Amino acid sequence: MDNETCDLAIIGSGLTGLSAAIAAYCKNPDLIIKTFGISYDSNTAKKGDIENIPGVDTIIGVDYIQKLTEQIDKFSSEFAPEQPTDNHFPVIELINENVIALNNLGSDFEIKTPDQSFVSKAVIISTGIPELKGTIKGEDEFVHKGVSHCAVCDGALFRGRKAAIIGNGNIVARGTLFLRKYCRKITVLCHTETLECDMRYLKKLTTSSNIQIKYKIPINSLEVFGSLVVQGIKYKELQDEKELSVDAIFVELKDKPNIVYAEDLNLEITVDGHIKTDEKNATNVSGLFVAGTARGEKDYVPILMGDGYKAGVYAAEYLEMKGKN
Ligand SMILES: Cc1cc2nc3c(=O)[nH]c(=O)nc-3n(C[C@H](O)[C@H](O)[C@H](O)COP(=O)(O)OP(=O)(O)OC[C@H]3O[C@@H](n4cnc5c(N)ncnc54)[C@H](O)[C@@H]3O)c2cc1C
Repeated sequence: MDNETCDLAIIGSGLTGLSAAIAAYCKNPDLIIKTFGISYDSNTAKKGDIENIPGVDTIIGVDYIQKLTEQIDKFSSEFAPEQPTDNHFPVIELINENVIALNNLGSDFEIKTPDQSFVSKAVIISTGIPELKGTIKGEDEFVHKGVSHCAVCDGALFRGRKAAIIGNGNIVARGTLFLRKYCRKITVLCHTETLECDMRYLKKLTTSSNIQIKYKIPINSLEVFGSLVVQGIKYKELQDEKELSVDAIFVELKDKPNIVYAEDLNLEITVDGHIKTDEKNATNVSGLFVAGTARGEKDYVPILMGDGYKAGVYAAEYLEMKGKN
């Protein structure tokens, strides 16, 4: 069977990828665009309220992704022919599968999912950054027995209990502020000298009576312990071995971008482990663009929307230059 073809394939359908699809469509509604990824599997869809989108009231993440999806549906029928043809309808198609391989065919790309294969003239990678799992002693053993990788998803299960949250940055700050609604006491075990989060969050954290923050706790000193379920965590503070008695441990550490599906492309990587791009979101591979945290962009919804939009515009311009047909 022949591969299905498209002009632009967007790998990752979180807010960054969906913004890229909207931008590329607006730039040129004749482009055939396919976005890949499991629907509603993104960070935004899974995790809590967003309150910092300029001009938008606090919105639940999943509602925001739904709004983007509805906007895409609306655009997709904007110029729909009365009799849909295979080639030009729908304009933006959401393929509900992950990509398992991305190969360079010379001037085009081959995109493989577990069930299908596609050829595209340009590609945008917007797969974000996955959680870092399995780095702490005892972590794997106690998953679903008190260890979680998402405070916002599982925090409410530990109402009235004591919890520890591990990591730094806005992700830990937001997670801790969410947990304070449910947990009796929360201890933040932060590996860096400061929490490295927005001051607005820090101000709320440091004025909450049930939150304690411990800094410079080496990740490799952490060890989850318990019997059947979590009973606590061991850690090293300065040179002292300590133990904290808790019922829940939230590990909120971030990994590097996962691009194993694109390993044959020889993408240039920065010293920080992100995919290297220029100011137009382009990689060292012609026709391949990256948007969002995978290229080291800051992890804020408004920035990621803009970065996705920018990548969509530049990918559409690339296709125009290349001569889309
Ligand atoms: C708890 C929490 C709360 C947050 N709250 C806020 C907030 O209030 N304000 C704010 O500004 N920011 C917030 N953020 C940050 C921001 O929401 C996220 O980081 C943002 O959602 C990232 O969007 P993204 O599209 O770049 O990546 P993601 O949301 O991670 O989306 C990437 C998508 O790519 C998919 N994918 C991965 N691999 C493949 C593959 N091989 N094939 C196809 N698809 C693939 C994933 O399934 C996922 O759907 C929060 C983050 C967290 C974790």
